[in-house]
Amino acid sequence: MSATAIPTAASVADAVARLSPEGRAFIDGAYVDALSGETFDCVSPIDGSVIAQVAACDQADVDRAVKGARAAFEKGAWSKASPAKRKHTLIRFAELIREHADELALLETIDMGKPIADSRQIDIPGAAKTINFYGECADKVSDEIAPTDPSAVAMVVREPLGVIGAVVPWNFPLLMAAWKLGPALATGNSVVLKPAEQSPLTAIRIAQLAVDAGIPAGVLQVVPGFGETAGQAIGLHMDVDMVAFTGSTEVGKYFMRYSGESNLKRVSLECGGKTPHIILPDYPDLDKAAEAVAWGIFFNQGEVCNAGSRLLVHEGIRDDFIARVAKVAQGIQPGNPLDQGTKMGAMVDATQMERVLGYIEAGKADGATVAMGGSRVMQDTGGCFIEPTIFADVTNDMKIAQEEIFGPVLSAITFSEVDEAVRIANDTVYGLAGALWTRDVSTAHKVARDIKAGVVWVNCFDAGDITTPFGGFKQSGFGRDKSMHAMEKYTDLKLIWLQLD
Ligand code: NAD
Repeated sequence: MSATAIPTAASVADAVARLSPEGRAFIDGAYVDALSGETFDCVSPIDGSVIAQVAACDQADVDRAVKGARAAFEKGAWSKASPAKRKHTLIRFAELIREHADELALLETIDMGKPIADSRQIDIPGAAKTINFYGECADKVSDEIAPTDPSAVAMVVREPLGVIGAVVPWNFPLLMAAWKLGPALATGNSVVLKPAEQSPLTAIRIAQLAVDAGIPAGVLQVVPGFGETAGQAIGLHMDVDMVAFTGSTEVGKYFMRYSGESNLKRVSLECGGKTPHIILPDYPDLDKAAEAVAWGIFFNQGEVCNAGSRLLVHEGIRDDFIARVAKVAQGIQPGNPLDQGTKMGAMVDATQMERVLGYIEAGKADGATVAMGGSRVMQDTGGCFIEPTIFADVTNDMKIAQEEIFGPVLSAITFSEVDEAVRIANDTVYGLAGALWTRDVSTAHKVARDIKAGVVWVNCFDAGDITTPFGGFKQSGFGRDKSMHAMEKYTDLKLIWLQLD
């Protein structure tokens, strides 16, 4: 396949025939079966077919992976390599991801159900860019000399933590893994990566590319498996120094508990969200705002942690604005994820589809009005598709306004004053992101400061860059991915006080 063309496959079966997806774990530089020999079916949500047998790793496999990762760390071929060497190797790793972008994109799409154009234009280039960025960062960070009395030299140095457990979700499988791998590897750690059971294939594939790029065997281990087995084993392992987790708030809390019950490993958590998207009536281009609101919730089937799932719209423009959002949403209907023109794909699996449909029923039962959509579609494909859904007449105490649906469901809530909008925006356990549209610079500043969230977008939505930090307040977690700040959490400060004669 060429390095630039968007890959095509006529069907999931065609893609599987071309890719022969690898489903084994990757430990100490080689693909291996789970020690138990157990596997599970990897099912494509596009048509319900089984696309691979994946190693069901458990505690014994995690232990093996951690031992290998620790041995690699102690050996020092990576942890004590010069930052310049780590830089060149990570940049090569990023190049290999780019060279295999067509293959990885197709794998991501058949595994997770997102549109092939998104996999090829967003997820895979984003993962490569992330690894490249942290490669570039590896030799740009210096240690400090503290301003002590001249009779001493007090060096404040940063050291890698050791073995990092990276536990990631299924919505952006490779990209979320890259957000952990980039800074963890750039700072010299070994990583045991557990992809989500719904979407393990790209993580398994890139483990080989890492070794091909020159990352020593054992430094990146991949253990596919279920959360309650492989995930928990990482959380409870006595020789894992830190868990970098992205996933639900519920499971994030488990990792805090695992840490307390084991070795007090550090934990960083990127958890869920219920992002408020506030539209003030002074914003002159409501079509532009409506476009952002629609894509802000329907992109990636709504399976986005910072999805703008709560529309907070001024009561004076409510009906007009919801109609504008619905008009945009008409153009984001589900289609075959393998078609290059498809803008919305399949829900990741039948469980998630049923969960989202359950929330739609809850919205109706609580008295919200379905302004658009509300149903499963394309049943004849055997896949898991839900149409873009908009609820009007939502109040912020309803289940669909409080809980993370993680699907293509927008809940529209009205307000009359800016202060009320801010109060509603903050009335949630989450604090991942927020957005507002206004022409008034004072309001923009004030509201951006008042919203309790890790990121606030003004007159845009979901804007970001690998140079900017990302993460939550409140129960959306703590610690930051992306940017050079992410490197801090994978290192520890050591003071070396050298007394001069
Ligand atoms: P999840 O919490 O169910 O699973 C995430 C990971 O944790 C998976 O690898 C899973 O196998 C593992 N896991 C599940 N149960 C476990 C347990 N008992 N012990 C140990 N590990 C366990 O989340 P998901 O459904 O895969 O992903 C959706 C969630 O991820 C949403 O809440 C979304 O908001 C969140 N998310 C957050 C961000 C962010 O940056 N804040 C980004 C993407 C997704």
